[in-house]
Amino acid sequence: MDRALDAIFRPRSIAVVGASRDGRGIGHEILHNLIEFGFTGAIYPVNPKSASVHSIRCYPSLRDIPDPIDLAVVVVPRAAVPGVLDDAIAKQIKGLVVITAGFREVGGAGAAEEAVLQAKVRAAAIRVVGPNCMGVINTDPEFRMNATFAATRPERGSAGFMSQSGALGEVILAQAAEIGLGIAYFVSMGNKADISGNDLIEAWEDDPAVNVILMYLESFGNPEKFVRICRRVTRAKPILAVKSGRTAAGARAAFSHTGALAGSEAVVDTLFEQSGVLRVETMSDLFTLATAFAHQPLPRGNRVAILTNAGGPAIMATDACATLGLDVVELPAETQAALRSVLAPEASVRNPVDMVAAAGPEAYARALAILRDSPAIDALIVIFVSPIMINAVEVARSIIDGVRGARIPILSCFMGKEQGRQAVVDLRRAGIPVYAFPEGAARALAGLERYRRIRDRPEGRFASYDVDRERAGRIVKAAAAAGRADLSAEETSDLLAAYGLPLAPSRIVPTEEEAIAAAGVLGYPVVLKAVGPTLIHKSDRGAVTVDLRSAQEVGAAARAMRERLRAEPFRFQVQAMARGRETILGLARDPKFGAVLMFGLGGIFVEVMKDVVFRILPITDAEARDMIRAIRGYPLLAGVRGGPEVDEEFLVECLLRLAQLAADHPAIEQVDINPLIVGSERSTSCVVDARARLSPAVPA
Ligand code: ADP
Ligand code: MG
Repeated sequence: MDRALDAIFRPRSIAVVGASRDGRGIGHEILHNLIEFGFTGAIYPVNPKSASVHSIRCYPSLRDIPDPIDLAVVVVPRAAVPGVLDDAIAKQIKGLVVITAGFREVGGAGAAEEAVLQAKVRAAAIRVVGPNCMGVINTDPEFRMNATFAATRPERGSAGFMSQSGALGEVILAQAAEIGLGIAYFVSMGNKADISGNDLIEAWEDDPAVNVILMYLESFGNPEKFVRICRRVTRAKPILAVKSGRTAAGARAAFSHTGALAGSEAVVDTLFEQSGVLRVETMSDLFTLATAFAHQPLPRGNRVAILTNAGGPAIMATDACATLGLDVVELPAETQAALRSVLAPEASVRNPVDMVAAAGPEAYARALAILRDSPAIDALIVIFVSPIMINAVEVARSIIDGVRGARIPILSCFMGKEQGRQAVVDLRRAGIPVYAFPEGAARALAGLERYRRIRDRPEGRFASYDVDRERAGRIVKAAAAAGRADLSAEETSDLLAAYGLPLAPSRIVPTEEEAIAAAGVLGYPVVLKAVGPTLIHKSDRGAVTVDLRSAQEVGAAARAMRERLRAEPFRFQVQAMARGRETILGLARDPKFGAVLMFGLGGIFVEVMKDVVFRILPITDAEARDMIRAIRGYPLLAGVRGGPEVDEEFLVECLLRLAQLAADHPAIEQVDINPLIVGSERSTSCVVDARARLSPAVPA
């Protein structure tokens, strides 16, 4: 644990300010928990109205305590908090846990009060958890501190748990106890006036007591810092998070696809993805995964064996594994033969290994001895459905002994009742996660495997290209000075060209005759477009005609366009015809998360399938490559069914160049490159359509 937070998590003395004597208040509850959990330091109740609380001598104020105090837990009404804070400063206390509510969460005066508190504690170098929280726990035997008012007694274990909701804290502790998930630390963060989730992650990073970090989050204080810290921490320690408060995609200006698609939810998912944090959907899933992370090693791959005494649950497990990307592999012939020699003749020795209902503890022991060290599998799910004649406790014992010291993750599913309850307790105590249904085991295993992949992914590097930053800056400035947010077609092309993005050769001309002449210069086939400030989605307006092969065709297309768009101000753009896959590259800025890059298949794919991925900037080359491979339509780029394979490195470079443009010019708010047509070589790949918009706040 980071020394900076020692006053809070490793105190030698704790004052409980606002400990009431009547045994009902929260303060009394906290005092009770501290005593009952066996806090190893000294405890000082503070209450001006009584001489003793819970049989312990009570002090009228913090200043009256004769001994030094490390941590004060504050439970007084909000109006009394400033006075307590002054006392704490005078007493040189370095840690506060403020349980008291009525601060920022109520807005108005409460928010102002919190700002004052924040400023005061920062100035005095006091660290604070809360306000508006339910307290903190450190189960380390050296401290044994339960400074919460939760009714559940925590069990020692290796999970560091932080919760942004106080109310959920109680539920979390109860559930953890219920499923045997031990806790190293629990922190109810409350309003995070001082200590944030980021602080706790950093504190637990090098703490050997914590081997998995669990978080329930409602908001991000500093997303950029979160990504930076978690990227580092998750290389060594898994972080699992439930983020609630899913919002409808913030549909913004229809100006660009990127802007419309980059709703906050997609970006939140991206944030987790980039940070290496496993986002789980529900609290129930968080616990499902947590028990596996707390006790089991990571798999080396996705090959799973299933050992069972019943067919149905094994099929469920197989289906769940397959859906989650785990491979229920065919076992090697020698493994099958070995199993055959020790199991009953009616057993099936393929995977799932079904020993049928008559299998007892001995059968489990024999099969496990063969499977647990098999190099052909990376993980094992052991299923037991309690038949009446088999003793579940003995089976559990057999499993516990059978997998001891195994180097692969082993998860179990026990279905049944009667002695089943004790069997489950025994398994959990031995560190083998137990699930009531096979899907739980499969989900937990998939979580371990997902984390292994995250941990092992290449770190990549931040690339920087030779670009013409000044030229781009001039374009942006000129448009801003003219009071225009939307860049013209020429400006957009110039901007992208300055950053080395290749544009299809093209000419913009006012008349049909000049369009025909331009086509002659560019060489056929060409594409004819009408460009103008009102023509945002050109093809919808009949302003794009592709594959024109002669002067006659260009002339006819131009006249038809002129006819269709009589009322519009526009000019003709004649462009060389490109061939390849259409991709979309986009940039948008999220008010909370900053610059966001988008990639997907362009044209109809983005409109209909919304097959796009996002990354929050900055990104490494490895992340850019990962973006490209993450879209569902990736096989179309990699070359399916003999189709051509596109130049992926070129795409990576284009994404990084766009990212560099975004970083260099904060005034550029949105860019949509749609499409960048990419072929099998960079020489045949080019941008044929793009638009860019400056942020309205740009000073002219
Ligand atoms: P908009 O997106 O405004 O409708 P585009 O310039 O993107 O206009 O053109 C629409 C579609 O026409 C593109 O998605 C692409 O399929 C095709 N297209 C446009 N220009 C070219 C070109 N130079 N080469 C090949 N196809 C093109
Ligand atoms: Mg387009």
